[in-house]
Amino acid sequence: MSKLAQLKSRMEQLNALHAATAIMDWDQQTYMPKGGASARAQHLGILSQLAHETFTDDSTGELLEGAKAEIEPGSNDAAIVRNVKRDFDLSRKIPSDLVGEKSRLSSEAHESWVHARATNDFASFAPTLERMFEIARQEAEYLGYTDHIYDALLDMYEEGATAADCTRMFDVLKANTVSLVKDIAENGKPVDDRVLYGDWEVEKQRRFTEKLIREIGFDMDRGRQDTAPHPFCTGWSVGDIRLTTRFKDYLGSAIFGSLHEAGHGMYEQGSPMEWDRTPLAGGVSLGVHESQSRTWENIVGRSKAFWKRYLPSLRSEFLALQAYDVDQFYRMINKVEPSLIRVEADEVTYNLHVLVRFEIECDVLTKKLDVRDLPAAWNAKYKEYLGVDVPNDSQGCLQDVHWSMGSIGYFPTYSMGNLLSYQFWACLRRDLGDTDALIEKGEFAPILGWLRENIYSKGKKYPPKELVMQVTGKPMGAEDYVTALNAKYREIYHLS
Ligand code: ZN
Repeated sequence: MSKLAQLKSRMEQLNALHAATAIMDWDQQTYMPKGGASARAQHLGILSQLAHETFTDDSTGELLEGAKAEIEPGSNDAAIVRNVKRDFDLSRKIPSDLVGEKSRLSSEAHESWVHARATNDFASFAPTLERMFEIARQEAEYLGYTDHIYDALLDMYEEGATAADCTRMFDVLKANTVSLVKDIAENGKPVDDRVLYGDWEVEKQRRFTEKLIREIGFDMDRGRQDTAPHPFCTGWSVGDIRLTTRFKDYLGSAIFGSLHEAGHGMYEQGSPMEWDRTPLAGGVSLGVHESQSRTWENIVGRSKAFWKRYLPSLRSEFLALQAYDVDQFYRMINKVEPSLIRVEADEVTYNLHVLVRFEIECDVLTKKLDVRDLPAAWNAKYKEYLGVDVPNDSQGCLQDVHWSMGSIGYFPTYSMGNLLSYQFWACLRRDLGDTDALIEKGEFAPILGWLRENIYSKGKKYPPKELVMQVTGKPMGAEDYVTALNAKYREIYHLS
């Protein structure tokens, strides 16, 4: 058997182990009874360790070396070897004692963070957080970088992305969004969306959201939607992709949560079936993945055309909405409000929340900012960029789970997703013409078809930066996003 064939067979075994852990994790978040928790943690721990040991074994490195000599440049096999090599290098560069230390600190830090957030006590969390940042610094040194320490960390989540890319993107965002948000707050015609908060029947929400995701093109023969406290998308085969949603007081929670996760899901379902269970199937990076959830949630799902089609059926399910027309509903679901909490932020202010986190991460990593002074820096930036006063650290720098898990360098991928969604969409519109007319008629197939052909069917064959160049002819930038958002929200808020 050739080295390449052996490498592929090893990856198939690992894929089966990952599938098992993914199914167990999905079950844990959806249906598992409380009593299953302790056994599930044990099972997951053992399977994950087995997968990690198999993958990082010296023999994987030998197979990789051998396979390299057997592949044709540019072929699918070359892409498989490239992907496996990248993951192998990432997992081998960091010494196992540092991996162990991080994993121990993570569980300790998680508890400390939960407690600090509940009691609004940043000082008790600060020493743990400082150690977490120190581990991140060490990780970055082992991984290596040329320009900025941040590059090494960000690359783990978004291959090839750098702090300079982020700075470039945030400079454009800062220059445009901060002033738009200010203009909306000071001169915009106010939006009252109180009617969207109520006691909505769960069964009706379930039916309605399933109808939406089926009609936009999520294939229910190759996936399903269930409920979980935090919406997510997972999967273990191109033929089996799982979405979750949640039903809350805010009617938009389920609707936009479902559309968001269906966007992730359709990306996963769009990989070629012959790549199933290989390292080529699935989304290429966090940023590109998020661009697809945002496309269906925001660009399609928060458009007026979409609700010209669906508001009548929503109104017939939920009588409280009967007095509202499409224009009113469209304004309500696009309400912009500078707020404290990132996960509740609207499309316009969202990236400013990310900007705060990016700048703080850079400053702490480079020791420009001491962890003890983090809350003050956080609050000052919220005031400057969003115009809001942070009343306490629980609603401020303690709100996100990421740092306690050691996920430092992760946040910018959310903004990359927002930017890329509009950058891809600008190209899609050039090719398809009047997308509003298609959406209003419920003709989603040409839209999904375009995304499949240009993005989904490429799976992980090309690195994300290369994919963006191929599809849009330029590197990731904020221009399309800024143009689209200004046009949309100046109209909604009656600004000149
Ligand atoms: Zn997402």
